[in-house]
Amino acid sequence: MEQQNFHPGIARWYEEYTQDVEGLAEKLWARPELSMEEYFACEQTRKFLEGQGFQVETFHCKDQSRPANTVVATAGSGHPVIGFYGEYDALPGLGQEAVPERSPKEGPGHGCGHCLMTPACASAAAAAYRTMVEEGLPGTIRFIATPAEETAEGKPWLMKRGTFAGLDCCLSWHPTPYDLSPAEGILQAMSSYKFEFFGQAAHAAISPEAGRSALDAAELMNVGVQYLREHVTSDVRIHYTYLSAGERANIVPDYAATHYYIRAADMDKVEQVAARVLDCAAGAARMAGVEEKHTLLLANAETAILHSFNRFLYDCACAVPPIQYGPEEEAFAQKLHRAVTGKEGTCDPLPKGLEPPTGQELHYNGSTDAGYLTKTVPTARLYGLGIVRDTPGHHWGVTASVGSSIGQKAAVYVGKALAQCAVEIAAHPQRIDQWQAELREKAGEVRLLLPEE
Ligand SMILES: [Zn+2]
Repeated sequence: MEQQNFHPGIARWYEEYTQDVEGLAEKLWARPELSMEEYFACEQTRKFLEGQGFQVETFHCKDQSRPANTVVATAGSGHPVIGFYGEYDALPGLGQEAVPERSPKEGPGHGCGHCLMTPACASAAAAAYRTMVEEGLPGTIRFIATPAEETAEGKPWLMKRGTFAGLDCCLSWHPTPYDLSPAEGILQAMSSYKFEFFGQAAHAAISPEAGRSALDAAELMNVGVQYLREHVTSDVRIHYTYLSAGERANIVPDYAATHYYIRAADMDKVEQVAARVLDCAAGAARMAGVEEKHTLLLANAETAILHSFNRFLYDCACAVPPIQYGPEEEAFAQKLHRAVTGKEGTCDPLPKGLEPPTGQELHYNGSTDAGYLTKTVPTARLYGLGIVRDTPGHHWGVTASVGSSIGQKAAVYVGKALAQCAVEIAAHPQRIDQWQAELREKAGEVRLLLPEE
């Protein structure tokens, strides 16, 4: 692909609205909300996009009776339908002032940087739409603010509602403490189940023979799963917690519940392992003489990586003037790097580079709720910038970085790159056919496992 010019319409849009984009990032950062409760963020995002001439729909992704936590904003008409998704949930216990040393704040905090994702991606949608209109390019731009990524359940519920239906392709970004590059790591597939056991209560000393302990079944199931761990491949991760284990030791518990995550390199494997975990539950219930019920809470496929789309996205990002940080941001990064790592600066702690994709795929542990989206809609995501180098994920150092101008400038810069990509797609819509063919070959027939409860 030849060297692109940065579309002047995008440059003009950001000249006019950079303050608003940074302001939105600041507002979301200052009022962090936990997964499924992103009510303020939803409202602020709605206002921002309505102000940009988008048709905006808001709703709660899971429970219609609750205030809205999801935004679907559409502008333009016809094909291509170019999607963007942002996230905006925070994490418990990661409250921190936007200063380069430990200064805890009560409550949740943006320790994963999602407060930047929605401003970056929503601004990209607005700038791309404005530029497409100016350049007479047909197409639809749709921005979706997806809640509850940290609990991996937002997008599965939106999948169930069909919110992503009709997208021809999709773009997004996640800040990281690295230089910017299209995402090439394959995240694991996962499923999550609730197991419930129903027994018979009795006085544990006077009439234990009348009791059937639901807790016994939960414990026997866990023992069965410990043995199962010896017979799975090394990519498999199985973890659980108790949700309910009885109230008093002198009452035989008639109810117990556990929550399981099952992860593996791909969904087929997750399902094979899950079948054996379900057998452990059934066997345990039989041993304890109780009833068992299991509910699929959510499932996420492994992510699909499209090299041709990644390359296209990188070429577009190259057209954007590089991110500029000043001496204050450099000093902030030095100080925060020292505070987080305990080491004197051995590297430039402020990521600002743009790296080409390698074309190699790496497998990572951990999952994202975008798995099924990447397997059903050609999706390219930028990863990088906004966070001081060597800061661990889900850490107060992330909250500090993304609450400062380091994070806000990254959101604006990445927004420009994503907008450039969307306008280039609108100018060359035939490229989508190639990505869709690549995805079909890669993902095959995708059978969605949707949440039951
Ligand atoms: Zn995240």
